[in-house]
Amino acid sequence: MRIALLAAAAATLVATLPAKAADLAATAVSLREKALVDSTAWNVVESLTTEIGARPQGSPAMDRARDWGVAKLKSLGFTNVHVETFEASSWLRGAESAEIVAPYPQKLQILGLGRSTPTPPGGIEAEVALFKSLDEMIAQPPGSLAGKIAVVTQVMRRTQGSEGYGAGVRARGGGVEAAKRGAVAYLVRSISTDDTRLPHTGGATMSGIPMAALSPPDAELLERMVARGKPVRIKLAMDSTYRDKAPAYNVVGEIKGREVPDEVVIVGGHLDSWDPGTGAIDDAAGIGISTAAAKLAGAQRPRRTIRVVMWGAEEQGGSGAAYAAAHKDDVAKIVVVSESDLGAGEIFNAKLPLGSLNHPAMRAFSGAVTPLKVIVSRSPAQSGGADTEGLRALGVPVAEFNQDVSRYFDLHHSADDTLDKIDPKELAQNVAVWAAFIYTVADSDIDFRKTAAEAK
Ligand code: ZN
Ligand code: ZN
Repeated sequence: MRIALLAAAAATLVATLPAKAADLAATAVSLREKALVDSTAWNVVESLTTEIGARPQGSPAMDRARDWGVAKLKSLGFTNVHVETFEASSWLRGAESAEIVAPYPQKLQILGLGRSTPTPPGGIEAEVALFKSLDEMIAQPPGSLAGKIAVVTQVMRRTQGSEGYGAGVRARGGGVEAAKRGAVAYLVRSISTDDTRLPHTGGATMSGIPMAALSPPDAELLERMVARGKPVRIKLAMDSTYRDKAPAYNVVGEIKGREVPDEVVIVGGHLDSWDPGTGAIDDAAGIGISTAAAKLAGAQRPRRTIRVVMWGAEEQGGSGAAYAAAHKDDVAKIVVVSESDLGAGEIFNAKLPLGSLNHPAMRAFSGAVTPLKVIVSRSPAQSGGADTEGLRALGVPVAEFNQDVSRYFDLHHSADDTLDKIDPKELAQNVAVWAAFIYTVADSDIDFRKTAAEAK
């Protein structure tokens, strides 16, 4: 009897302690192996892109995506599945066309940028003022672009990490500077590494003038035409609708922690997308990766709660801020947050919260993912993704899982963002890394705020 009681007490003690380092490491390795042959992420991406497709914020498709998210999380066994409603702006594309009318008439392939102003019915026609970089345009004095269509043809460099995009994306927002100098419209070479004739859209700051992306070959065509020295005139017709406040949704599901359910590990992707493709790599992939990894890690019944958030307005902005505002009083219990939002390419580099590299839990993580050719960086994480910025600002630790984006910007925000571009093996590598991270955090007592404080 006494022995039985002691055994029961010991069992209770074991159950209330964080998993031992060796067990954490072994389970992380076994999760990696399971993830590499698990098809959940692929099935989720296939389902979202086939049954919903493009889902811009504020569109009827986004409402269907919300219902899809709820049903998917429930069917995968998540609990506390619910929708958190907020308001975010919504820009929806109408008919668009562009053509060179002189000196050599030709059609142009364009896509309006988010928050572009429509042209008057019938369109506008004006002479082009072309610049090969955004800064070259910004160097022009006020009024110098009066009555012109400003065109910036800055080229984006292909890089494995996101530096190329980071440097290039500023040009997408150049409409504001063009308008300040009197331009009547702004055209920018797509922020992409693509050589197809598909333009790539994206969000821009509202400038009061029409703004659109040119396909890369069309940007080069305009450069050659301008170089001939005769005035180049373009006719542009663009329609769109804009609402400052439209209903928006973050979809949430959980796997309750067995021991400290109020401590939460948050992972996710964004449910909304741009309209030309089916939002496969951006960001059905992130939804699939985070949901599949959470399910796999959650099946180990870790100590802490795992929460998946499908953020609902990343592209047009607002979902991360809304989530942080709704949860500002429970941030102390959020252990870490990270979003998968750089496509479906392999993770090549992981950045952990400051000072955590040598904690047994992160050693277990590192041991599990090194065979996947993941570089666990000595530099700490800077950002966990756009939708985590609001929480980070409130002090929540973030982690980064940087995907190889060598091909991502060939496809991103274009009509070519479709399921066939995803390699199931690369997708599964992502799930393996995320599952190892989620598990080693959720089944340990690692405190990233403490490791960061000690490192300072
Ligand atoms: Zn995205
Ligand atoms: Zn995007």
